[in-house]
Amino acid sequence: MSRSDDLFQAAQQHIPGGVNSPVRAFKGVGGTPVFFKKGEGAYLFDEDDQRYIDYVGSWGPMILGHANPVVLDAVRSVLDNGLGFGAPTALETEMANKVCELMPSIELVRMVSSGTEATMSAIRLARGYTGRDKIVKFEGCYHGHSDSLLVKAGSGALTLGEPNSPGVPASLAEHTITLQFNDLGNVREAFAEIGDEVACIIVEPVAGNMNCIPPQPGFLEGLREVCDQYGTVLIFDEVMTGFRVALGGAQDYFNIKPDLTTLGKVIGGGLPVGAFGGKREIMEHIAPLGPVYQAGTLSGNPLSMSAGLAMLNALSSDTTIHEQLDAKTELLTQGLEAKALKHGVPFTTSMVGGMFGLFFTDQEKVTSFAESTACDAAKFAAFFQGMLKEGVYLAPSAYEAGFMSAAISEADIDFTLEAADKVFATLV
Ligand code: PMP
Repeated sequence: MSRSDDLFQAAQQHIPGGVNSPVRAFKGVGGTPVFFKKGEGAYLFDEDDQRYIDYVGSWGPMILGHANPVVLDAVRSVLDNGLGFGAPTALETEMANKVCELMPSIELVRMVSSGTEATMSAIRLARGYTGRDKIVKFEGCYHGHSDSLLVKAGSGALTLGEPNSPGVPASLAEHTITLQFNDLGNVREAFAEIGDEVACIIVEPVAGNMNCIPPQPGFLEGLREVCDQYGTVLIFDEVMTGFRVALGGAQDYFNIKPDLTTLGKVIGGGLPVGAFGGKREIMEHIAPLGPVYQAGTLSGNPLSMSAGLAMLNALSSDTTIHEQLDAKTELLTQGLEAKALKHGVPFTTSMVGGMFGLFFTDQEKVTSFAESTACDAAKFAAFFQGMLKEGVYLAPSAYEAGFMSAAISEADIDFTLEAADKVFATLV
């Protein structure tokens, strides 16, 4: 028995399923979730002091690696002044200025405490602004677990096979129209029928909750056109992609300007933060400027702001970080494809910047929800478990993106590829 086995047993006494967020339970891959006690740079250490190269990065925010000294020092520098006041601080303005500088489509930005709050609030704002109820999302895209958005969702909702959660009133879910990611024809058809009633399209510009599926050329451009044509608000959910696929997020990478953007994870540097922002004209509808209500006792708290600012300042002061993330992700994904090919395992990958996907399929590329869910989840689970034994921590689900960090070295990638060589050999 490992310490994780003992701790998982104990956790289940008073925590539902022993976890505070479902994907952590290893339902999609089997076995006991690993209990970690420490992160350092590229590595996580479990309760038995086993080391793992980490490709999850706390699901995205650890772009600089774990326990980055610059981020930790920033938190220490404000710690002794108290943990929060529920009143304005200078740090919040500094953060807002930084976000608006890095993402010029954002003119006003409001801090919240999670990605779920960010998307929920952005949807309410889009509805309040347009006076329309219907929203459009894409099957397999996950935007947090608020009622309107937990319809045909990805991530844990997909891993657990519960794309439509009990507890979401049908009368509310009926306002959520779910279309196919990367299928512009599908979007145009739907809008020809009901476009005038749609408050917003919300989309992950790179889908990261049904594995990792980049947008097909023209898809995001098409969404922009459709939104302009029908007076619909275009929301990019950049909770994963923001500051990761490029410093200016996916909107910079693909050069498309959304009306609103939702952010999370990364701007907290690992502490709980989210944000939504965008065009001044729309954001002015938020309270106290306008009538659309939104609030948060802990929003913009000094610890999270200082961690996030340190992260964003570090990312923007080294202009090579994103190139390096890109190069290392390519080394990893190409290397994995070569190892799989060597062992005759049907396998392909995807990547955008420091975000990547692993697919057990004989398709050359995976571009849709249907193709992603048709991949061999059992093979993924066996691969995941094999890699875990070798000391490589991948996302514990076939439907999550992987994340590269600046702390992962080429030697770590070599180690990963050697591990994969052994594990692929067992999969045939
Ligand atoms: N949007 C996207 C694209 C996400 O990936 C996630 C979480 N993985 C969320 C929203 C929800 O964020 P949180 O878990 O912080 O509520």
